[in-house]
Amino acid sequence: MAMNSFEWVDATTVEQAAGMLAESTEQRPVIAKAGGIDLLDLMKEGILAPMRLVNLKTIRGLDEIDTENGLSLGALVTLDRIDSDPQVRARYLALSDAAGHAATPQVRNAATIGGNLLQRPRCWYFRHDHFHGEGADEMGSRGADENQHHAIFDNDKNAMVQASTPATALVAYDASAELAGGANGSRVVKLSDFFLPPEMQRAHDARIETGEVMTRVIVPPLNAGAKAAYRKQTERDSYDWPICDVAVVLTMEGQTVQNASIVMGWVAPTPRRAAESERLLIGNRLTDDLARQAARAAVAGATPLAKNSYKVPVLETVVRRTILAAAAG
Ligand SMILES: Cc1cc2nc3c(=O)[nH]c(=O)nc-3n(C[C@H](O)[C@H](O)[C@H](O)COP(=O)(O)OP(=O)(O)OC[C@H]3O[C@@H](n4cnc5c(N)ncnc54)[C@H](O)[C@@H]3O)c2cc1C
Repeated sequence: MAMNSFEWVDATTVEQAAGMLAESTEQRPVIAKAGGIDLLDLMKEGILAPMRLVNLKTIRGLDEIDTENGLSLGALVTLDRIDSDPQVRARYLALSDAAGHAATPQVRNAATIGGNLLQRPRCWYFRHDHFHGEGADEMGSRGADENQHHAIFDNDKNAMVQASTPATALVAYDASAELAGGANGSRVVKLSDFFLPPEMQRAHDARIETGEVMTRVIVPPLNAGAKAAYRKQTERDSYDWPICDVAVVLTMEGQTVQNASIVMGWVAPTPRRAAESERLLIGNRLTDDLARQAARAAVAGATPLAKNSYKVPVLETVVRRTILAAAAG
């Protein structure tokens, strides 16, 4: 499929970028570009045909990491830097591991955390031009024939899963996104409320308005004694999208769990909290048996499709292992 011609603008300020993005219409789309990894795919796949691209990488100051009070990641910080920054790794191990296990070294060098959170689904019905305009949403749904990689929860209407794997860790850490340039100025949205079930016709599968620029990802300070782990299960050992991924953040006093945050990715249209598993852990001494019970609770109520019931035992195992890995520190 041939790409359309488009105009390229190097933005120098967030306000300038937001102003240009606010002019976007269906007929004349104006689209932000960060690392360009997903954007270029979407353009080559014929899903996006921008009239103008607004390059955010020329805006100064959006690539800073600040670990002073919790963690602030400028939206242009790359996945590679999140993986390799010693302060981030020392304090937010599950996030570093999630970034370091995403994609390939080349992609991680270019991909930014803002663009990563705003990437579109990898559903093959969504991506294939054969299905554009004739119901990728329906094809990505329960009725789809090839649903090996689709959701096993909340899949009654649409079974595409949200693609970002760092999102799994960020939701577990209770992180937020800062958005600037909208009608009400700057605002901060919790990532647990940010994602929307993917739909073909949306510009983003997230609560970001036309004309808004993501400026930062903010992670709150950790409780004393917090320990975390991230695990991503793939079909093969080299780079791959997950069957599922899991992030666990525990606050421990000795062997007793004081607080637990367990989030699962690639199993539902948005990152899914394992609330019942958290409840089982909190206030109790963490044993292998308790981790097993919590993992069983995490998959309760799953509604797998014709070809993805294999995900249920895989997820159960990954939840159990990630809980034990977090507790082991
Ligand atoms: C081989 C391969 C394997 C991969 N494996 C994984 C994986 O395991 N896990 C994973 O999470 N990802 C994976 N990815 C996806 C990749 O990580 C994302 O495509 C990338 O992170 C997107 O970031 P970007 O900076 O390139 O965003 P872009 O492509 O530049 O932008 C993506 C979207 O976000 C918008 N956008 C970007 N930044 C902003 C901003 N600051 N404000 C407002 N809008 C913005 C753009 O308009 C666009 O709609 C893989 C990709 C490839 C090619």
